[in-house]
Amino acid sequence: MAKAIGLLSGGLDSTLTIKLILEQGIEVLALNFITPFCTCTKKGCSHQAMKVAKDLGIALQIIKLRDEYIELIKSPKYGYGKNMNPCIDCRIFMFSKARTLMLDTGASFIFTGEVLGQRPMSQHRRAMKIIETKSNLTGRILRPLCALQLEPTLPEIEGIIDRKRLLSITGRSRKLQISLAEEKGLVDYLCPAGGCRLTDRNYAKRLKEAFRHKEDSLSDVVLLRYGRHFRLPSGAKVIVGRDESENNILSSAAAQCNILLLETKDYVGPVVLLSKYRDAEDIRMAANLCLTYSDYKGEENAKVEIGDDSDILAESLSNEEMRVLAI
Ligand code: SF4
Repeated sequence: MAKAIGLLSGGLDSTLTIKLILEQGIEVLALNFITPFCTCTKKGCSHQAMKVAKDLGIALQIIKLRDEYIELIKSPKYGYGKNMNPCIDCRIFMFSKARTLMLDTGASFIFTGEVLGQRPMSQHRRAMKIIETKSNLTGRILRPLCALQLEPTLPEIEGIIDRKRLLSITGRSRKLQISLAEEKGLVDYLCPAGGCRLTDRNYAKRLKEAFRHKEDSLSDVVLLRYGRHFRLPSGAKVIVGRDESENNILSSAAAQCNILLLETKDYVGPVVLLSKYRDAEDIRMAANLCLTYSDYKGEENAKVEIGDDSDILAESLSNEEMRVLAI
């Protein structure tokens, strides 16, 4: 039996595609990528992919992309899309990983749920061609949902795949995929799986600012998801939790990453993280931000506790001062 690697996000298109390939009698090994920029559900990035793999009775491999991937995001050869999404470089990177798995497992080709014209940066003919060439997979990437719009691939030419059973979908609408999924009983997969924070304008703005300050570790990019962010004149960074769940996340990040944590015990208020601080003035400004977002109403001698159990006197910042510091 021929074998293929199927990229699986767990969303509608990739799930439907795997179903189509299984129906052609191909053994499928699903491959799911977790990046630091996935918009995870509470159950975790790969939860939906695991569910699909289990329901369809196929094996699943999960690859976590970390430092190497962050490096790629910093200087993509083919540039960014609308925000910080370097989709062409990202696809080349993922397909190269998939190629390694293809060679290791003796699979004949790789397939994806991509649709011609669905995404502006990576799903048009020229981009698809570049991605195939640069990942050393010319002719070995099958896109079953839009295959009839594209040149026949090697698995079609070699007779492993019956081209007549492939589809001709284009564009952003998912109407055809939804009705096909319903026809095939895939009713649980009608929504796309999680997205990518790199396409989010606000996240991208924070990421760009962080890279400018050489903050590019895994924890740096993960912490960009939470809280209000401020850059102090010294270059120190302050993150202010916005609710209880963010406060809990920031508290545990402070413990794991050795970042200074500030909190006011006299008022209901946020957890505040201060990193890259230089002097007492940085600590005082972070403490002031902590009070600014607490229930503090201007009483004298308000105290903020800092990481090592000592505390400092602080006062809230004016709106103008916050505007200057906010990222
Ligand atoms: S949207 Fe994000 S995950 Fe998808 S191809 Fe672009 S950079 Fe990669």
